[in-house]
This record gives sequence, structure tokens and C-alpha cells, in this order.
Amino acid sequence: METAEVVVVGGGVVGASVAWHLAARGCTDVLVLDRGGEPGQGSTGRATGGFRAQFASEPNVRLSLFAREKLRRFPEEVGADPGYRPHGYLFLADRQATLDALLAAQRIQHALGLHEARAVTPQEAREINPAIAADGLAGGVHCPTDGFIRPLGMLNGYADGARRIGARVCHGVHVTGMRMDARGRRIDAVVTDGGEVSAGCVVNAAGAWAGAVARMAGVEIALAPLRRQVASTVPCSALPDEMPLTIFVESGFHLRMRDGRALLLWPDEPATRDPFDHELDEAWLPEVTRRAHARIPCLRGVPVDRDACWAGLYEMTPDRHALLGRAPGVDNLFLANGSSGHGVMHSPALGHLLAEIILDGFASAMDTYPLRPSRFAEGQPNPVSELL
Ligand SMILES: Cc1cc2nc3c(=O)[nH]c(=O)nc-3n(C[C@H](O)[C@H](O)[C@H](O)COP(=O)(O)OP(=O)(O)OC[C@H]3O[C@@H](n4cnc5c(N)ncnc54)[C@H](O)[C@@H]3O)c2cc1C
Repeated sequence: METAEVVVVGGGVVGASVAWHLAARGCTDVLVLDRGGEPGQGSTGRATGGFRAQFASEPNVRLSLFAREKLRRFPEEVGADPGYRPHGYLFLADRQATLDALLAAQRIQHALGLHEARAVTPQEAREINPAIAADGLAGGVHCPTDGFIRPLGMLNGYADGARRIGARVCHGVHVTGMRMDARGRRIDAVVTDGGEVSAGCVVNAAGAWAGAVARMAGVEIALAPLRRQVASTVPCSALPDEMPLTIFVESGFHLRMRDGRALLLWPDEPATRDPFDHELDEAWLPEVTRRAHARIPCLRGVPVDRDACWAGLYEMTPDRHALLGRAPGVDNLFLANGSSGHGVMHSPALGHLLAEIILDGFASAMDTYPLRPSRFAEGQPNPVSELL
């Protein structure tokens, strides 16, 4: 039987980051298993690649600041370009109450050291992004060190880097079960469609599918998939690639430029029969396009390219914070799940912290107590404060 000190289930950006961080600490007997035939078949390959530290909760701001530090060192440490480009995030509010909420979040950000985040008037917002229709705006907030990352560049950087220092990363392997010890408190082996792997410990990094993987070990986790859709225009010169990611907070409509195309996003509430269904909803396209044309008039003559649009899954927890640490009830199962749509940007931090938890018994780089997986069973979720 194959063996590994650590088996990581899921080779998306989070699993790859965990593997790299373990291997970089000298724990090289790591085996990553992913059922996809190639990297990026889960949510990572469908992410648009935004990075921000403008969150409304302390743990999320801390995760972003730690991740940003690691993104800046990524080329030297990991040997690849994560594509971090600080082109900024601009949040815009129509109503004073929304602006007040953005400013309350900014006070948390300032207290944690994100001093470059600042309030902007409608006039300043237009100077930062001249493409917006600013009439009726109450104001906004802007942070110039937020910006963009390359999800697949990060995934491949971590996976290739982990391989170079001894980890094994295998695609096309479906994990179908866990063989538990007699008391049901430890995983003895991970069961796959290609046989069993004896495991010292197991990391659940299965993204939106993590609930099913946890259940294989008898653990219930608070996590649900949520479909998110992206409309892409044809290549155009209407807007520059350096445009900040711009968010109209009340509706949730936001857009960015990537590789010469405008990517348009607006969170719908999918009325899906199957929560894992992530087919693009055709009726959504005219809605998101209408919002884009109202808010960004220069896009009115730029058609959407139906073949370049896509959908994917967020991995939501009830309080929209990640689940990080040992799984309740199973001594050798660790969770790195539930980033609630921020998993790419937070993956450098999550991988580092989980490697510390596995190897040292606790995380020293950041307080991970608010992310402990047991918080829902304890009736102590984090307050839901994120506007997006
Ligand atoms: C439209 C969209 C836009 C997004 N934009 C952003 C963004 O701008 N910034 C950001 O930070 N995040 C963004 N996200 C969220 C981000 O994509 C996720 O948070 C992140 O990719 C999660 O990474 P992961 O490694 O946990 O999951 P995944 O990338 O989904 O990886 C999980 C892997 O587990 C594998 N797997 C599952 N079950 C099994 C099994 N039983 N056996 C073997 N393998 C298994 C899957 O094949 C998959 O490859 C976006 C998501 C979507 C859908």
C-alpha cells in the first residue's frame, strides 16, 4: 500500500499551498490527490483573480495582510510569479448608510495597519476611475495596494515548487472514502479509485466539495457551494487593464479588466435544483450587461462574448470566514476550507498557517482562533460583517 505522512485531498490553490508550506518546512512526505485530470479544474481555475485587504472583519484583514506579504516574496520563495499587481480596489456607495459601513470597515483596516485605504468623494472616485457614471454616488473607499493576482500562476507555482522539494502531486485520482480506526477517531487510510493510501494525517482541501470529503471521516462541516458567474466582453480598448477593480456595493455589481476584456460580475441568487450546478444561467447575462451599461457608459458599444463567459462555485461558510485547523472529533484530519470566495487571495496565508498547526500544534504567524472549525458547534461564529 502507498503511504504518506500527509495526504492532501484537493490540488487547488489551497491544497497546493499547504503542500508547499509543509515541504518547505522539511515535511516532504506529502501526497496531494486531485480527481481533476489537470490543475485548476475546481474553483481556482474559475476565479477572476482579485486581491484585497479591504475587508470588514479583523481575521479577514489579517489574512489578507499576511498573504500580501507572502505574495510580494513569492517569486524569490516559491520561484514563480503570482501576478500580484496593485491596481487597487474602489468600492462605491449610493447611500450614506452603505458609505458609513465602508468607513466602519476602514477603521478596522487602519487599526490593523492598512493605512493606505482611504475614503474618497464622488469627484475623487471619478479621478481614480474616469469610466464610472458618478451621479447619485454618496462616496466610496479606495485602497491602492489591493489589486490582482493570477490564480493558476499561484496554483502551479506552489504545486511545481512543492514537487521540486520532494512532495508528490497526483491528478486523476478520486478520493472515495476514509478507512477509520476502530474508535472512529483517526483516519488510517485514504481510499481512492486507485487503491488505498496509508496516511499519517489528512488535509481536507477539497474546496466547494469539502463537505463530502469531511463526511467520509464522519465529520459534518458548515460549508455550502454557491454559484458565481462571470460575463466577459470581447477584447476591447474601452478601459485599461490597470483600472482598479470597481464595486458598486448596494447591487454587488463589480468589474475589472483582464487581458484586454472587461469581466462583469453581479452576484445572483441561483434558484438551482442542485447546489453544485454551475452552468451559466442565460437569463443572467442581459441583467449583468444592463448593470454594466448603466454604471460604465463606455461599455455600451462593447458586446459580451458568450463563449468567454463562465460560472463556478464559491465555498461558503455561514459566517463567511475560513475553516482552518483540526477537524472536531478526528485527531488526524485538518481542514483548510470555506474561504467563501476569497480562497485564492488568502491561500498563501492559509497554507503557511495550516503547516504550522500540523507541524507545531499551533499557528504562530497569526491568531487562527476565530477560524477554528468548532466555532459553529460552540455557538460562536464570527459576526457576518462583509458587504461582499
Ligand atoms: C467566479 C469566481 C470568481 C472568483 N474570484 C475570486 C477572486 O477574485 N479572488 C479570490 O481570492 N477568490 C476568488 N474566487 C474563489 C476561489 O476560486 C476559491 O476560494 C478558491 O479557488 C478555493 O481554492 P481551493 O483550493 O480550496 O478549491 P478548488 O480550487 O476548488 O480545489 C479543490 C480541489 O479538490 C478536488 N476534489 C474535490 N473533491 C475531491 C475528491 N473526492 N477526490 C479528489 N479530489 C477532489 C477538486 O478536483 C478541486 O481541484 C472565485 C470563485 C469563483 C467561482
